[in-house]
Amino acid sequence: MGRPVLAAGDAATDSGAANRSGAISPIASSAPISICHCSSASAWSIAAAGWVSGGIGQAYHRAAVFAAIVYNRGKTSPEVDVPENEVVERERMEYDVVIVGAGPSGLSASIRLKQLAAEAGREISVCVVEKGSEVGAHILSGAVFEPRALNELLPDWKEKGAPLNTPAIEDRFLLLSERKAWRLPTPPQMHNHGNYIISLGNLCRWLATQAEELGVEIYPGFAAAEVLYDETDRVVGVATGDMGIGKDGQPTANYTPGVELRGRETLFAEGARGSLTKTLVERFHLRADCDPQTYAIGIKELWEIDPEQHRPGLVVHTVGWPLDNRTYGGSFLYHLEGNQVSVGFVIGLDYDNPYLSPFEEFQRFKTHPAIRHFFEGGRRVAYGARALNEGGFQSIPRMDLPGGALTGCAAGFVNVPKIKGSHTAMKSGMVAAEAIFARLSGNETASARAELERSWVWDELYRVRNIRPSFRLGMWAGLAYSALDTYVFRGRAPWTFHNHSDYDQLARKDAMPPIRYPRPDGKISFDRLTSVSFSFTNHDEGQPAHLKLRDPEKAISINYRLYDSPEQRYCPAGVYEIVDDGQSGGKRLQINAQNCVHCKTCDIKDPGQNIDWVVPEGGGGPNYPNM
Ligand SMILES: Cc1cc2nc3c(=O)[nH]c(=O)nc-3n(C[C@H](O)[C@H](O)[C@H](O)COP(=O)(O)OP(=O)(O)OC[C@H]3O[C@@H](n4cnc5c(N)ncnc54)[C@H](O)[C@@H]3O)c2cc1C
Ligand code: SF4
Repeated sequence: MGRPVLAAGDAATDSGAANRSGAISPIASSAPISICHCSSASAWSIAAAGWVSGGIGQAYHRAAVFAAIVYNRGKTSPEVDVPENEVVERERMEYDVVIVGAGPSGLSASIRLKQLAAEAGREISVCVVEKGSEVGAHILSGAVFEPRALNELLPDWKEKGAPLNTPAIEDRFLLLSERKAWRLPTPPQMHNHGNYIISLGNLCRWLATQAEELGVEIYPGFAAAEVLYDETDRVVGVATGDMGIGKDGQPTANYTPGVELRGRETLFAEGARGSLTKTLVERFHLRADCDPQTYAIGIKELWEIDPEQHRPGLVVHTVGWPLDNRTYGGSFLYHLEGNQVSVGFVIGLDYDNPYLSPFEEFQRFKTHPAIRHFFEGGRRVAYGARALNEGGFQSIPRMDLPGGALTGCAAGFVNVPKIKGSHTAMKSGMVAAEAIFARLSGNETASARAELERSWVWDELYRVRNIRPSFRLGMWAGLAYSALDTYVFRGRAPWTFHNHSDYDQLARKDAMPPIRYPRPDGKISFDRLTSVSFSFTNHDEGQPAHLKLRDPEKAISINYRLYDSPEQRYCPAGVYEIVDDGQSGGKRLQINAQNCVHCKTCDIKDPGQNIDWVVPEGGGGPNYPNM
């Protein structure tokens, strides 16, 4: 039987779908004419391309191609047999700039590019692809938001209705023991006067509308699966993943090939531990001159609480219990508008005990006497998890590539003592846009990294560079050193502590005490699988697992035997399970990939670096409402 392709007529009728993303640019593109290598999925778009001409025609054509794919996704299409060896070619679309990821950094970059083009009286075509089903669907943050970068990017954000509705009005910093809580002086970095408690997902949704108004084309539901290179090893864009591949790796009746998005420059804004970024870091040795990146896992819930317990604008952070002195981490609890509270727990992924479960530490934390009253009588409305980077200044890689750059948390700009990275992600996107615009304008030596070094992000991260690494000596030593560094040296100590990678910090199971966690009560603390249902995660079960083991054998010979399979505990979604292997009487690792919330922790923490997280079909993953 030949390879099935979609019937041309299938895609031809849904004009509503063409407008789905609202992405049709009213601004003519100066990019080279789009080259259409036709697959039958785009019959409608071919007609459209012939029907209209000029820049609007190109933007319309591109939008139509994406719309046709969206329309056909998940449909059972009539099969058309083609000869076995016929190659189904990918669509190719050309832009000035392609951006991977519609988070704060990617969206800010896209807006800045359009602003620079308008200031110069030029036109520039910019495309953003986003793997979430909509912008914001994969965004998970605290978030207390510092508006410095937003003030620079869109100074009239208030008039334009940005969703910054709850000013932070009170900071509390607590040290917890098992039964007690002590209020500590709030460190200066954690003062939030002038900041806002927000949903970062909603801010991204709003930024996307601003970008689209400027003519940026945004395509949610499309995961960039592959970096494209030319013969000189220059990055020339990305390809989105094929759709409709079966578990056996073969095309199914729903097969639709990915799309090549060719850019004169490509910006990678995938956030912490981006899957394409990881390949770029290796290929171009971007970390040759800096420390390894380090990470934490952040697990979060959104609650609607009893109005009696609600204090809009209250920001609470805790350290101490339930973590021991050796393990870095703490909680956040932010009171938003509408009786909502964001509560979460962050644990440094350099922890050593393979029995530690970040998920259960978080559940346990909520039961503390100083905390649980906030949740009694309330209800949980959402759950999710995401890795964040913690390496800071010492771990900033080379950001420039031939043909592109890294930006935002893909490179890593979280200010750990502030527990904030969205303002630095935005600013890094803006400066990367400035460098890229200069390159497109003929200044080939313009560099995103050089622009960043001239920006306030550089100075901000430099001043706090020693604080997170000092916690390697334990919580008490870290707190003491942080006070010294902040109040005496003011961030200018004549030394710099170094970072280490996280995966090799895990001790073997025999060297560590097992940890027993209490059973969840189902009211304030919950089990893992019930929790995952509150992330509204969905993956087509027919596709190949997007969690790849480099050597499947090591799941048992190394992970199980030496570390008691820590992935069973650090995965916040219950993806990894050790089950009996019916045939040999032994054990095997079962991967429930459809539960994955895309936090990337397994890619980071696996002790043998044996797990590669790659993108599933676009649109798969969590569907966070307002995280
Ligand atoms: C638990 C937690 C709490 C936090 N609290 C705060 C806080 O209170 N204040 C604060 O300022 N910061 C906070 N941060 C940090 C902040 O969220 C990040 O620094 C910020 O989101 C980084 O922005 P980004 O655009 O670089 O990446 P992200 O926000 O991660 O966005 C990346 C986007 O790219 C998409 N993407 C990734 N790969 C692909 C691909 N291959 N193809 C297509 N799309 C792709 C993703 O789906 C995502 O939408 C917190 C982070 C966490 C995890
Ligand atoms: S499988 Fe990996 S990326 Fe997915 S939720 Fe689990 S730890 Fe996170």
